Amino acid sequence: MTTQTTHALQPQFRLEQKRRITGSFPGPKSVALNERRSAVVAKGVASGVPVYVADADGGIVHDVDGNSFIDLGSGIAVTSVGASDPAVVAAVREQVEHFTHTCFMVTPYEGYIAVAEKLAELTPGDFEKRTVLFNSGAEAVENAVKVARVATGRTAVVAFDHAYHGRTNLTMALTAKSLPYKGGPAGNFGPFASEVYRVPMSYPFREENPSISGAEAARRAITMMEKQIGVESLAGIIIEPIQGEGGFIVPAEGFLPTLAEWARENGVVFIADEVQSGFCRTGEWFAVNHEGVVPDLITMAKGIAGGMPLSAVTGRADLLDAVHPGGLGGTYGGNPVACAAALAAIDTMTDLDLSARARRIEEIVVARLRKLQSETGIIGEVRGRGAMLAIEFVMPGSKEPNPVATKAIAAACLEEGVIILTCGTYGNVVRLLPPLVIGEELLNDGLDVLEAAIRAVK
Ligand SMILES: *Cc1c(COP(=O)(O)O)cnc(C)c1O
Repeated sequence: MTTQTTHALQPQFRLEQKRRITGSFPGPKSVALNERRSAVVAKGVASGVPVYVADADGGIVHDVDGNSFIDLGSGIAVTSVGASDPAVVAAVREQVEHFTHTCFMVTPYEGYIAVAEKLAELTPGDFEKRTVLFNSGAEAVENAVKVARVATGRTAVVAFDHAYHGRTNLTMALTAKSLPYKGGPAGNFGPFASEVYRVPMSYPFREENPSISGAEAARRAITMMEKQIGVESLAGIIIEPIQGEGGFIVPAEGFLPTLAEWARENGVVFIADEVQSGFCRTGEWFAVNHEGVVPDLITMAKGIAGGMPLSAVTGRADLLDAVHPGGLGGTYGGNPVACAAALAAIDTMTDLDLSARARRIEEIVVARLRKLQSETGIIGEVRGRGAMLAIEFVMPGSKEPNPVATKAIAAACLEEGVIILTCGTYGNVVRLLPPLVIGEELLNDGLDVLEAAIRAVK
């Protein structure tokens, strides 16, 4: 017998946690919905999976034709507590019966304050903190930059190679990848915001000098900032502690602490964009915790509210309070229903100890993938933390990206009823973002499918 060190509760599921594909899909109801969609929904919004959802719970998504899929994407790292966590559902129900909206800037309410109190408690740093709430990750990032500029009186902002920060004008400028985010064959979305500069990331698998340390990679970026931008112009640097859309890139150890220390010494605001990596996803409340990095500002969204749209900027009180009253806000920011959902989702994360579950998912997945890596020629690297894990596919015997195999693997998984997302600057990364509440049996069933799909690549 092994002794349990935690006494976390077990997740409760409404839907049977089982993959079931009945014949070929998309079925007739999904096909009909797709026809309606084509007539009215803009083509620019593309969907990765050709079926329409009827229900979702835990690690399972049901479509309108009676198929059930294993969800290894969580709607892009959002439904960490599951897509219909009972605590979130109850909190939302309770709140909507009272009021759906008043606008915090008009007639405020307690939920907003309670979320800010929670975030002050959960984010790293034992200084006084302030929080402001918004709706999307991009909005949080835009506002963190606004705060950094006002607080420092400087204008330049630095982002990194492979970064993803969103699709609004300023966040497109911060985002590295051109297609599809900044434009495409039909034209581009610019002109983009000015005073945004890009410096090299630490990307261990693709470093020209594979022995470069994290601190050295940070010095490389710092030299560029000092020589090409000038510290006196630099308001802030924004970085994903583990990059999301860019390929789940985990910087070499020492990279983040070196940057954070340099930023502190130079009065540059260090902004950690934890929109994807936050809220137990990596096995800690925040990905910066793995190296004890304390950001000045943290942006949060995706996993924060069990699927309801909410985002936040939390950080040093002196920075956030530098902004004049009325300078921050928005009609829906910190919507009361979203706040109620966030408080419930955070309770679920605590009650079920979802950080421990994320670490357990890492254990299971990484052991299987490392074995597979040694047996097949196309896995360049298996990386990530907790339940934010990725496989970078290469051409056999090289580091040349293999987007063709990556696409084929994701398609083969879907064919068998497993939803898998891809990412990466070179389109050659499969990313695994299961709901943290997923059962081990279901997870292993999904991994069986993924493994067979990888082995089938010629
Ligand atoms: C998804 C994401 C964003 C943008 O969030 P939206 O809610 O889509 O606007 C910003 N930063 C990171 C790291 C993300 O993963």
